[in-house]
Amino acid sequence: MLKVIWENRDNLPYAWKVLNRGVCDGCALGVAGLHDWTIKGVHLCMTRLNLLRLNTMPAMPEEALKDVASLRGMSNRSLRSLGRLAYPMLRRKGEPGFKRVSWDETFSSLGKHFRDADPRRAAFFVTARGVTNEVYYMAQKVARFLGTNHVDNAARLCHAPSTAAMKRTLGIAATTCSYKDWIGTDLLVFFGSNPANDQPVSTKYLHEAKAAGTKVVMVNPYREPGMERYWVPSNASSAMFGTAITDHWFSVHQGGDIAFLSGVSKIMIQEGWINRSFVEDHTEGFEVWKEHLQALSWDSLERDAGLPRAAMLEMAKLLRDARNAVLVWSMGITQHGFGTDAVQAILNLGLAQGYLGRDFNGLMPIRGHSSVQGGAEMGAYSTVFPGGIPINSDNAAQLSQQYGFEVPDWPGYSAVEMIEAADQGDLDILYSIGGNFLRTLPDPNQVSQALSRVPVRVHQDILMTDQALLDGGQEVWLLPARTRYEQRDGGVETSTERRVMFSPEIPRQVGEAMSEWEILRELAIRTFPERAHLIGCESGWAMREEIARIVPFYDGIQHLRQTGDAFQYGGPHLCPDGVCPTSDGRARFHATPLPGLGHQEGTYWVSTRRGKQFNSLIYSEVDPLNGAPRNAVLISQEDCEREGLAQGDGVMLRSDTGQFSGVAWPVRITPGNLQIHWPEGNDLIATGRTDKGGGVPAYNARVTLATEP
Ligand code: SF4
Repeated sequence: MLKVIWENRDNLPYAWKVLNRGVCDGCALGVAGLHDWTIKGVHLCMTRLNLLRLNTMPAMPEEALKDVASLRGMSNRSLRSLGRLAYPMLRRKGEPGFKRVSWDETFSSLGKHFRDADPRRAAFFVTARGVTNEVYYMAQKVARFLGTNHVDNAARLCHAPSTAAMKRTLGIAATTCSYKDWIGTDLLVFFGSNPANDQPVSTKYLHEAKAAGTKVVMVNPYREPGMERYWVPSNASSAMFGTAITDHWFSVHQGGDIAFLSGVSKIMIQEGWINRSFVEDHTEGFEVWKEHLQALSWDSLERDAGLPRAAMLEMAKLLRDARNAVLVWSMGITQHGFGTDAVQAILNLGLAQGYLGRDFNGLMPIRGHSSVQGGAEMGAYSTVFPGGIPINSDNAAQLSQQYGFEVPDWPGYSAVEMIEAADQGDLDILYSIGGNFLRTLPDPNQVSQALSRVPVRVHQDILMTDQALLDGGQEVWLLPARTRYEQRDGGVETSTERRVMFSPEIPRQVGEAMSEWEILRELAIRTFPERAHLIGCESGWAMREEIARIVPFYDGIQHLRQTGDAFQYGGPHLCPDGVCPTSDGRARFHATPLPGLGHQEGTYWVSTRRGKQFNSLIYSEVDPLNGAPRNAVLISQEDCEREGLAQGDGVMLRSDTGQFSGVAWPVRITPGNLQIHWPEGNDLIATGRTDKGGGVPAYNARVTLATEP
């Protein structure tokens, strides 16, 4: 805490206002000021405190960017410490660095570029770093006003498979329950997620859940220390002795969840431990799913899961005895080439038990970054219009009528496809609102090459990142953005539990930074001034009025005025009493094939993990929860012994794509599996392997391991 005060010492009053009045710009758990809607007491964590400096830091001197060669090689952490982007800047091909330009020149030049461009060769990407629903909404509206559906957001890299699987299964693409349902449910199961690290205050909810008798289950290759025991600082007994969180661990192989869940489901069907009445009254496709499971051999299930049938039986018994359960999952499930199927396997199990539409039950894709939930709902998604409406000619015609201008009816590029298009020379303009493709996508070398090929690259951001230092085909622009707190007329964020929360404007002016939605809006106006009147949304208040009309389930957003104002769209539970918003009100089972990753002698499956960081912003070289440095290779004790390794010994991992030099870090992880930090491990990950349903890259690879002196 003293470190945080010291870091923000030049602007402590503003830091306090952000904490006391703002909606947290960290994760998507959701809090307004210092209080949430789930438990009493103060809601605050180190992630939020670490992010404070982004909101209090002064402007970067404009001469800091006059020579990019001197900045190359600096870490993003060092680039961040240069200060806030304060002025529009331009670097033309062949120039050593960025030069300050006026906003007028910026809009004039970019407007001409967009006016001249083929809309199919222009793309927009919106990050999840604290941007508000207004920014998502305006980004998609401007993209469509300019004639392109190439607009996507950071959800594409995390929970897009959840969106795809939930939509086809339940007719909705959001968490079906509330956090309150964790507290007192019989069983709370986490698949491939580590909330102790990624949503820290959720440990307070877990502490209360344990006190209410809830059993916690982890299905994860690594026994995450933060989920074994966590010290909740605001609770006296927990602060002293810790809270034992997890009751049952199932250490599957990475990518073994479908096999494990299929085995569990197969047992439950065989034993008749299914909620028959729910299946009959509220679902379709059960028999097809059952036949699929019956055809799977136990050998293949055990081999792929990395666990014996006895473990699947143990899990099946826990579910049999749980009248209520909440199933929670995250990127350990989704970031695979078969992410949609892995989510589907969880949904199938939840449907078979009827964990839907009532108190203490739910299906929860827990979100990592603030407001990422709202991205697709606002339409900043290459495959849907606002409200999650699929892109087709009928829906395009309807939106065109509402907007008064023609909206394209063809699906756009996903985030990954934008980079592929750039690499192939098929993009003339790439407009990035935050984000850092260079650090977030697999194979940074290929990403670097692709970005450098785009003739006009625009980086609208609050800070400098290393992707903005890459040479451009012709021009690279830096557009200084206000933070969510500085945003004119305030802004809203949607949390994992679908709570739409208002964060008021907390005025501050850094250089010439503009609100992100205002930059986008002005760009559209200057591109086609003759149609400028069709953009509307002259203020944040007017935009929220429009959102309420275009996205009916956001009705109410227009009435939010001050800190604490919020509503939960759909109420505490979606699919109330098991009735889903599908054409016939029924949910649908879908069979999920085994990915058959296989674990070959002499190789390991490596996947990437988060440490003390927020997105690609790294706050500590050591993860306080397990003591691992950033170059740690998490490996099982058995594998260490077999390889003759001790903690700290040098190891080299090699995949078909690249290599990673690190140190062995023995932990309790399923043998045959390794974990390394993201984004450092991205060199090992190949491009081109994405989930068919959601478009998420597979952030894992088969590697060999060699010792290094
Ligand atoms: S748990 Fe998430 S929402 Fe809550 S304070 Fe921490 S970062 Fe913010």
